[in-house]
Amino acid sequence: MLPQLYRHRWMDDEIEAFRDQVRRYIAGEMVPHLDVWRRQGYIPREVWQPFGGMGFLLPELAEAYQGAGASLAYQLVVQDELARAEMPANTAVHSIAAHYLMDYGTEAQKQRWLPGLASGELLAGIALTEPGCGSDLKALRTRARRDGDDYVIEGAKTFITNGFTANLLVVAVRTGEAGSRGVSLVVLETEDLPGFRVGRRLEKLGQHASDTAELFFDGVRIPADQLLGAREGEGFIQLMSQLPYERMLLCVPAAAVIERAVELTVEYTKQRKAFGQSVFDFQNTRFKLAECATLAHVARTFVNDCTQRMLDGILDNEAAYMAKLWCTEQQGRVTDECLQLFGGYGYMVEYPIARMYADARIQRIYGGTSEIMKDLIARKLGMS
Ligand SMILES: Cc1cc2nc3c(=O)[nH]c(=O)nc-3n(C[C@H](O)[C@H](O)[C@H](O)COP(=O)(O)OP(=O)(O)OC[C@H]3O[C@@H](n4cnc5c(N)ncnc54)[C@H](O)[C@@H]3O)c2cc1C
Repeated sequence: MLPQLYRHRWMDDEIEAFRDQVRRYIAGEMVPHLDVWRRQGYIPREVWQPFGGMGFLLPELAEAYQGAGASLAYQLVVQDELARAEMPANTAVHSIAAHYLMDYGTEAQKQRWLPGLASGELLAGIALTEPGCGSDLKALRTRARRDGDDYVIEGAKTFITNGFTANLLVVAVRTGEAGSRGVSLVVLETEDLPGFRVGRRLEKLGQHASDTAELFFDGVRIPADQLLGAREGEGFIQLMSQLPYERMLLCVPAAAVIERAVELTVEYTKQRKAFGQSVFDFQNTRFKLAECATLAHVARTFVNDCTQRMLDGILDNEAAYMAKLWCTEQQGRVTDECLQLFGGYGYMVEYPIARMYADARIQRIYGGTSEIMKDLIARKLGMS
């Protein structure tokens, strides 16, 4: 049993009731299908429509666009519950894409796409990474050339979450000079879009239910009013300004998985016998689990504090980088320690701890690698 947490202002009874509703829905309607989704390598898009219908896809969206107008904490609670149930990060990406539209879309763009994103009729992906660049996004080469009232897009993206299932993409393209100032974001409806092609669905170490794909743009023509926002060249600023929220979408699941790993391991080691006693009763097991439980408590405390600060509008970039760095590193460490305590069974994918260990590995890479987080934190330290 983990210690009681400090109750921040955002943790009111209403949000706890919402959490309960989300948890029950995931357990009843999603978890029973998870094995099939893992085997086929994707979650069908249709699954997100009833999820959206329950108000779980974009609770934070304003009512004017058919959202619930709730605080961002509601979205974080959804991500928390999905991660706890071993569901992958598909809807986190969807939420980030929607936030680009909420914050930078013209009124016409918001009216056109946000209601569909809330209902689940549209599933979104974000296409930034290219075969030649990931961390160094300002080097991206996919180009959108202006041609009359259109843009014509040429290039390729890779590692795109929801790449196979999404029907709406926010794509980073080069509309101008080399470097960050030549980058813009465009929005594509991909169904039957000439010149757009989904390449391979990539086979991954973990997160098998989540589709990750290559995308190709061969002369894709879109109206110029699908540029996100009013002006070209603002893509990088748009990307950067969403980062604290995006980091929260990674560290909330990290905290959830750490807690779940500890719970599962306590349960398992109590019933597993060796040398005439339960594995839990070995001092090594108890010490390891005590360390992991401490990390779980610190991670959750840190994440809850960042959540409150985000809601108060005072979550600075550096705290968000630190939370992403630390929580995802601890997720890797705790899932590894816990797997060890399962012995050989921990290596069997039919055991959740094995899947949690594999799924955790990507957390230190996507959404900005641990090295990039350290570089960003150190950059601020270097400023006098
Ligand atoms: C499962 C999965 C899902 C993903 N989903 C998406 C998605 O939906 N949309 C999207 O656009 N992308 C997505 N990505 C891509 C992901 O964001 C990138 O993989 C990540 O940003 C790292 O980029 P890279 O793979 O090109 O590595 P590189 O940038 O080539 O980095 C290689 C190594 O060099 C290190 N490195 C790079 N620069 C520095 C530096 N300045 N200082 C120190 N070390 C450095 C890195 O930390 C890393 O260890 C996904 C990736 C995966 C695997």
